[in-house]
Amino acid sequence: MDKPPEYWYCDVCGYIIENVSDGYVIWNTNDELKCFDFKIIHQIKCDSKSYLSSTALNHFLGVNGLVYLTSFLSIGPIKKITCQGSSKVILNIDEFVDFIRRVQIPYYEEARRKFAKFGVIENYSDSSEVSPYFPDILKIITEM
Ligand SMILES: [Zn+2]
Repeated sequence: MDKPPEYWYCDVCGYIIENVSDGYVIWNTNDELKCFDFKIIHQIKCDSKSYLSSTALNHFLGVNGLVYLTSFLSIGPIKKITCQGSSKVILNIDEFVDFIRRVQIPYYEEARRKFAKFGVIENYSDSSEVSPYFPDILKIITEM
């Protein structure tokens, strides 16, 4: 099994976040309480007070992180039984899935920096919506 993501590129300064403990996630919420603009950043150094929500990067990692991520997409069956509403709704699903892939899928963080390269587009534009995002293919993309 591929190793889980271990480092990220800060969305503010562009430099690598080498230690999970230095990573932080910030996002905004609009007037309709929809969440958007998820950014992975260096905690404190690159934090912005204009973002309404934030938490440690490690909350989004591993299986527990996947549980947290899915709570942004669904309130889950227990709350649904009691007809409770969700406190979180995602504004832009493509943006959020990109964020999920960054924190969950090996090689995605590195490969996403190359998606716009001619060779990548040439090789993968005819592929399915799934296949380019498997770790073995992402690893190939990182080397392009
Ligand atoms: Zn930074």
